[in-house]
Amino acid sequence: MLKIGVLNGDDIGLEVVPQAVRVMQAAAARCGLTVDWQPLPIGRSGHETHGHTMPQVTVDTLKAVDGWLQGPIGHNAYPRSDSTWINPPLRKMFELFASVKPVKSYPNIASIHKNVDIVFLREVTEGMQSGSVTVAGTGEFRPNDDITIGHRVITRRGSNRVARAAFEIARTRARKRVTAVHKEPVFRLACGMFAEECRKVAAEYPDCSFDEVLVDGFAMKLVMAPQPYDVVVTTNQFGDILTDEGAGLVGGLGLAPGLCIGDRQAMAQATHGSAPDIAGRNIANPYAMIMSGKMLFAWLGHQRALPAAVEAAALIERAMDKVIAQAIALTGDLGGQGTTSGMGDAVVAAITH
Ligand code: ATP
Repeated sequence: MLKIGVLNGDDIGLEVVPQAVRVMQAAAARCGLTVDWQPLPIGRSGHETHGHTMPQVTVDTLKAVDGWLQGPIGHNAYPRSDSTWINPPLRKMFELFASVKPVKSYPNIASIHKNVDIVFLREVTEGMQSGSVTVAGTGEFRPNDDITIGHRVITRRGSNRVARAAFEIARTRARKRVTAVHKEPVFRLACGMFAEECRKVAAEYPDCSFDEVLVDGFAMKLVMAPQPYDVVVTTNQFGDILTDEGAGLVGGLGLAPGLCIGDRQAMAQATHGSAPDIAGRNIANPYAMIMSGKMLFAWLGHQRALPAAVEAAALIERAMDKVIAQAIALTGDLGGQGTTSGMGDAVVAAITH
């Protein structure tokens, strides 16, 4: 049995997360997967019920779950100087070291390229945003008013584990190819260490192919011919930019799911924010949250050797492919006239029929 936390978040999170849960429940039921769902307060609801946007009960409960769905947090509307209103730092707190972002095109959805199916892994604990390896701050300081110095932290451990996660994911895919993106000829020590660890890990996965591309050339290839890439692993700042570029290639925010993974747990989290401008109208696109949930099932299935979870993930993916291919119930951002709940209904129907 899996234990999965459900954190709706704010604004459209209150609409898209419940759709993801319904879809996951339908797939789990079809595949004989038992899940103990644990709804937990976070964000505005946490503040209303426990006086804090990240209640202690949520943190304590999450320690004991296999993974969770995290809806977007409306942090932009939170009072700035009140420490009970914070954007919950769950990724850091649970040492979720890699952000996994798939980029997939659909034949009938407008996109710059077709036949794109890439999974990006971005290291998120170090690099230029080295928040998890410094006691305070983001690694920037200003010794006098004319000079600012920023540093970048790369560790063997951080590089090795994100590379390993990339190969584990590649193994589950048809092409089994990992591309490491860096800039070793310029950043010989930092990118050099990242590249060295990727090469070491590659040697342990003879069933997967491995290549390396320099980040500037990669950014160009991604725009001109992204189709050959399968799994792409890179450092924090490069990944931050490239994953947004990737999402832009295939249709933007509404189609950008994500999973933050650690050694033991994972958090399903769509790339989009809480979109307060469209909240409460049942028009938000639930695709990204549903597919983030699908990724959680797939990752837990492989990690915990649970074939039913792997199967449930595949079922969700096929159902979503069908809903998109038939262009039934698609939300406005995908060119349809459907609603959030209507799209959830359609995916559930495709799973159960
Ligand atoms: P944050 O700072 O919280 O990350 P953001 O600046 O990235 O947020 P979002 O809240 O993600 O902004 O949304 C940007 C715009 O994209 C929204 O105003 C909304 O119009 C659109 N949008 C985002 N997510 C969705 C969605 N799931 N369905 C439809 N439209 C969306």
